[in-house]
Amino acid sequence: MTLPYTLSRWSLADLFPASESPQMAAAFDELDAQVSAFETRRAQLSPEILVPDFLEVVSQLEAIMHQVYRIHNFAELSFTEDTQDQAALAFLGRVEQSMAHIQNRVLFFSLWWKDLDEAAAARLMAEAGDYRYWLEEMRHFKPHTLSEAEEKIVNIKDVTGVSALHSLYDSITNRYVFKVEVEGEVQELTRGELMVYARHHDPDLRARAYQELYRVYGNDGPILGQMYQTLVRDWANEQVDLRKFTSPISARNLINDIPDPVVDTLLEVCQRNATVFQRYFRLKARWLGVERIRRYDVYAPVAKSEKRYDYAQAAEMVLDSFQQFDANVASLAQRVFDENHLDSEVRKGKMSGAFCASTAPDLTPWVLLNYQGRPDDVATMAHELGHAIHSMLASHHSLFTFHACLPLAETASTFGEMMLIDQLLAKESDENVRRDLLFHQVDNDYATIMRQAFFALFERQAHQMIKDGATVDELAAAYMENLSQQFGDAVELKDEFRWEWVSIPHIYQVPFYVYAYTFGQLLVLSLYQQYKAEGDAFKPRYLKILSAGGSEAPARVLAEAGIDITSADFWQGGFDVISGLLDKLEAIPVSTGE
Ligand SMILES: [Zn+2]
Repeated sequence: MTLPYTLSRWSLADLFPASESPQMAAAFDELDAQVSAFETRRAQLSPEILVPDFLEVVSQLEAIMHQVYRIHNFAELSFTEDTQDQAALAFLGRVEQSMAHIQNRVLFFSLWWKDLDEAAAARLMAEAGDYRYWLEEMRHFKPHTLSEAEEKIVNIKDVTGVSALHSLYDSITNRYVFKVEVEGEVQELTRGELMVYARHHDPDLRARAYQELYRVYGNDGPILGQMYQTLVRDWANEQVDLRKFTSPISARNLINDIPDPVVDTLLEVCQRNATVFQRYFRLKARWLGVERIRRYDVYAPVAKSEKRYDYAQAAEMVLDSFQQFDANVASLAQRVFDENHLDSEVRKGKMSGAFCASTAPDLTPWVLLNYQGRPDDVATMAHELGHAIHSMLASHHSLFTFHACLPLAETASTFGEMMLIDQLLAKESDENVRRDLLFHQVDNDYATIMRQAFFALFERQAHQMIKDGATVDELAAAYMENLSQQFGDAVELKDEFRWEWVSIPHIYQVPFYVYAYTFGQLLVLSLYQQYKAEGDAFKPRYLKILSAGGSEAPARVLAEAGIDITSADFWQGGFDVISGLLDKLEAIPVSTGE
């Protein structure tokens, strides 16, 4: 039997034939005309505006943004196709410049909308159909918005303030070179290359990799810590003092549209369940043949499986696992292959990693992979196609409401991965491969759930400590305390980990971002558990969550599916799934003689 799936490059022809093409030139011209027409509507914007006029303004803006996304996505995707292509890079630069200009020209609409009085806004939202939540969400920030003059000052000062510090942090840390001895030879590596050794089977090499990582960051620890103190003070000055958020984390919670108490509950449940992963680390110690694992061994492989899947096999397996869930879901994924929207091959200059780009509701998403045949690569394929399915299921929404918001954004992708792993486990007879898959899944759960939750707990504490005048050394000591709560006596910790927090870009760039990972992963574990328990009866509920896209607040989308994110029991359910996995792993007789 010949299979139709072969490693290939995608086609962007559904966007544009090329950056230098009559179609692209026409799109730029059209966009300019659209924006000019939109600008003439400015005078009409008043509290008395008639509903049909208002909706026309909104749909004009939607058409503008549709064009913007098509052009911008084309530029971005062309660049990821070949990051060494100077022409693609130059085009991307040109596009970003002109898109920023366009954003400024249409900005008056959102400013007017946020400023509008409650009664007028309610009247318009009631008739806004699918746009309603998008409009509602913009207004969430009304109580935290300053006067136009103050907002402008904040923007201007940010360029040379926080934004400059972010760039500086990137510049300082991106030029780090890490030296580690591998097979008798000293290698000079980037952080990405170094951290591959965190998953190496040689325990000494794992230790050397971590020691080198935090030696380098630790050398700059005092200065990176000082930058962090400044960023945290800026956050408090702006979000708490000026914008009147009740706490530093509240500002992030509103962006995610998750109520403060829900986030508190989530983090509390995580803290209470630190023992679940401590149990996992003890289990891992047995498989690694040691008394107790070291922090260096957290991601150590327990078996050396060399299993490889060719690309066609992988595509068949992924589509098959989707098919078993739902025929429509499988056919949506199939469309990504059929329309040649999938860039799967490894090429020189192509961006590493994987992603899914959902440009607009009327376009099939584009997926980039770097497929190399490891079980991991198959899981990644399922993950990214899951993202594509999610946006295709929500394609009946507007451009503004089809993207799932952050806490729900990883639902279909993670769920897709879990369906695939189940499928692999069902078909795989090699015990090594099966065990590897299970351990890999729990490693991943640890990294996404508990590690991120403890980062968020640290951030919460650090923001308070800095307010109270803490030194960098005191912050580092608090971080060590945070780690020892997380690991208990299940993991041996060395002192260099005191500098781990200064090495986490999210903590610097997007305060409190990390708990969204915890939220998303625990949610999917619970959903998957319900699926296992209820089978077919579960499916409509799940598909409804996905097809809501970003058209409703996450709490409401989930409440409709019978999920109460305010309840500690719900989050506990996610940890119970992991405990169940551990039961399975503990039942496998340990053999370390490989
Ligand atoms: Zn993802």
